Amino acid sequence: MRQLWGLPVLLLSAGIAFGQLKTLRPGFDMFTPQQDVQLGKEAAAQVEKTQPIVKNAQVDAYINELGHHLAQSPHAGSFPFSFHVIYDKNINAFALPGGPVFINTATILAADNEAQLAGVMAHEMSHIALRHGTHEASKGNVVNLLAGLAGAATGNGLMGALAREGISLGANSVLLHYSRDAESQADYNGAQIMAEAGYDPVQMAEFFRKLETKGSDGRVAQFLSDHPSPGNRVKAVEEEVQLMPARSYTANTGQFQPIRQMVSNLQPPRPQ
Ligand SMILES: [Zn+2]
Repeated sequence: MRQLWGLPVLLLSAGIAFGQLKTLRPGFDMFTPQQDVQLGKEAAAQVEKTQPIVKNAQVDAYINELGHHLAQSPHAGSFPFSFHVIYDKNINAFALPGGPVFINTATILAADNEAQLAGVMAHEMSHIALRHGTHEASKGNVVNLLAGLAGAATGNGLMGALAREGISLGANSVLLHYSRDAESQADYNGAQIMAEAGYDPVQMAEFFRKLETKGSDGRVAQFLSDHPSPGNRVKAVEEEVQLMPARSYTANTGQFQPIRQMVSNLQPPRPQ
């Protein structure tokens, strides 16, 4: 009889849990968190060698202030984040494992307000916190990858180990190309980061919806290919916000418009 009694109580508590806010955790991963950081450092060095990184003290200071404010959120995890701007007319942003976040100048120009830019950053930071890049890379040939990672520990470099498995930073790299599930997770976790930092999470979803309506514009192609829409982003975030404690979203540095103006006047960085 005791067991029969237990059943309805169990169902009832499961029903309550359904309507609660979740804290997402990283999935299966063959890399250690330290290897995420190491891989991200090696990959960021490649990006910095090949991409026109903006070297403007005010733009850098702004993007770092915003990023480090978002990083205070418990949902941002504990990776050492860094934030960089790339001079590029294509609207894109990407995250490397273990901390580096890159944002194209066109993304700053396409955002209507600071909350939308914070939303892109919180979304990218969530891919890092939830370790989506190395999770994807872990789906390949397990035996070879393990051997490669062990070899990398002896000093050959993780990018080199991954290159032997056909994984690079090129177009559609598994390190940067996420599943729709990963996208939903990054939206969900990113919304929590935003709310905890004082920004309206719906602005993140609104910005992605805006990009999706520009689908035929080639300038958003890479972003939409790397971050495939899970569908109904705005509705999903609105429903999530209903589960959050009531807050007023008043965070604003007051610097977004002047920085955006400055970015619109930037000259292309000289090739290194
Ligand atoms: Zn994404």
